[in-house]
Amino acid sequence: MLRRFFSYYRPYKKLFLLDFCCAVLLAILELGFPLAVSYVIDTLLPGGDWGLILTACAVLLVIYVINTFLQFIVTYWGHMLGINIETDMRKKLFDHVQKLSFRFFDNTKTGHLISRLTNDLFEIGEVAHHGPEDMFIAAMTLVGAFGIMAYINLELAVLTFIIVPIIIWLVLYFNGRMTKAVDTLFSHMANFNARVEDTVGGIRVVQAFSNENHERKLFKADNLRFRDAKVYSYKLIGLNSSITYMLMRLVSVFVLIAGTWFVIKGELDYGQFVAFVLLTNIFFKPIEKINAVIESYPKGIAGFKRYVQLMETEPDVADSPGAVAVDRLRGDIRYRDVSFGYEGEAKVLQNIDLTIRAGETIAFVGPSGAGKTTLCSLLPRFYEIEGGSISVDGYDIRDLKLESLRKQIGIVQQDVFLFAGTIRENIVYGKLGASDDDIWAAARRARLEEFILAQPDGLETVVGERGVKLSGGQKQRLAIARMFLKNPPILILDEATSALDTETEAAIQQSLAELSVGRTTLVIAHRLATIKNADRIVVVTENGITEEGRHEELVGAGGVYSRLHHAQFGGR
Ligand code: ADP
Ligand code: MG
Repeated sequence: MLRRFFSYYRPYKKLFLLDFCCAVLLAILELGFPLAVSYVIDTLLPGGDWGLILTACAVLLVIYVINTFLQFIVTYWGHMLGINIETDMRKKLFDHVQKLSFRFFDNTKTGHLISRLTNDLFEIGEVAHHGPEDMFIAAMTLVGAFGIMAYINLELAVLTFIIVPIIIWLVLYFNGRMTKAVDTLFSHMANFNARVEDTVGGIRVVQAFSNENHERKLFKADNLRFRDAKVYSYKLIGLNSSITYMLMRLVSVFVLIAGTWFVIKGELDYGQFVAFVLLTNIFFKPIEKINAVIESYPKGIAGFKRYVQLMETEPDVADSPGAVAVDRLRGDIRYRDVSFGYEGEAKVLQNIDLTIRAGETIAFVGPSGAGKTTLCSLLPRFYEIEGGSISVDGYDIRDLKLESLRKQIGIVQQDVFLFAGTIRENIVYGKLGASDDDIWAAARRARLEEFILAQPDGLETVVGERGVKLSGGQKQRLAIARMFLKNPPILILDEATSALDTETEAAIQQSLAELSVGRTTLVIAHRLATIKNADRIVVVTENGITEEGRHEELVGAGGVYSRLHHAQFGGR
């Protein structure tokens, strides 16, 4: 864990060394200050030589200027180190999360991921900067201060040092509790983010049901849980720092009494006494620092643990070692004895055998929940099949590079997801870097051109989050334009027009028909009228594929399809 943590310092070795050296130098100069004071009081003051005293002050001033400079480097460059490490980790985490598979996202809340990428990493960055530096300097200052104190008066030094083991015990005790508290705090914060994400994302539903009060209560509960966790952590911090404070003051008083006694006995000079008191304060500084670590260290550790956990989550679906890239497939698809289930033992699909010839349009119909969408989502390997095989043009899809496989497949779904940008950004998503001519051509073929031209901002029209500013038909056209641009040999239309009114549906069907020309097309349809002309119709039920054939054949066969047909069109 620690090794892994330090591996992130590697690119910033120089920065780390610079920061570290400056911090050490700073600590040394601060340690020297009491000695200088003792020298001035015991040696220079009795002599009354103003020239020497002023020179000593001038030297002191120079040291302070150097200190200021060092302080700047430690604060500025040190934090630079922290933020650089934080940025690197964030980049790695984002890259990694993007590669995770559908299964992961099915079971993960967006708000939790946002928490990982923002708050958690911020805390790691803080520890990355302060952790090693503070610990080392604290240790060094402690030893240094003790050394000088022992040099001045060994007995007094040893007596003062007794506080250290007690403090270390305290730190360990509170650190353990704090680690647990921070863990709770972080998960409450993540829940809290997830709640906001959910409520804001679903605000239209919330308001439509007038359930603001319900959401308010849920939010309030999360908010209070977060508060309680935070209050508890501050209680720990408060307890720890006040106990430490008390111990340190006890030592101060003790040093005053014992010091005075030593002075009266003649074993300590006045200057040495003052130096000792000053040193005690320097001695306390690292203790305060170690104390502050109680707050930041568990946060960084908790954050880093979550980070590592997420980084170690392997994508369920990934390129196999010998995966090949293909340029353009024809679209000969074969499912052989395919079985698949989402969770546990329950299988959604079992022993599926299906052959789809290149260029063919094949339609899937059947009751909702039978597994039509699932069947199609196995083709781009959104989920890994559990048994059997799927091949395209003779390549097992597991032997193809994911990127190159997915380039071959275009999916238009019922609920189109649009990004919160402009029409242009959403169309060009089909082929990043496409020229304006290509974008317009795609828009024309999707019959979106007129709409775009009617907008004052044209292609730069903002579509709103998830495309809320567009109608269902417009969104669907945009998705089709995006697909024309992508131009894949295999097309999956998953109830693409099911949510639209009949008139819009008919219009969009035309665009879809145009889109599917020359492509292997898998259509999932709810309304049978839209698939009458399919080359083949496949009926999927809970028992798998139960019927297969052309429209007329299936209507005549008197099975599930003919029943569906009669239900939708009436008569016999
Ligand atoms: P269809 O498209 O035929 O209506 P689906 O393929 O969407 O059916 O769903 C088939 C079954 O798989 C359903 O019982 C559904 O509840 C389940 N299912 C679908 N998607 C998921 C998922 N991401 N995680 C778990 N179960 C799922
Ligand atoms: Mg479906």
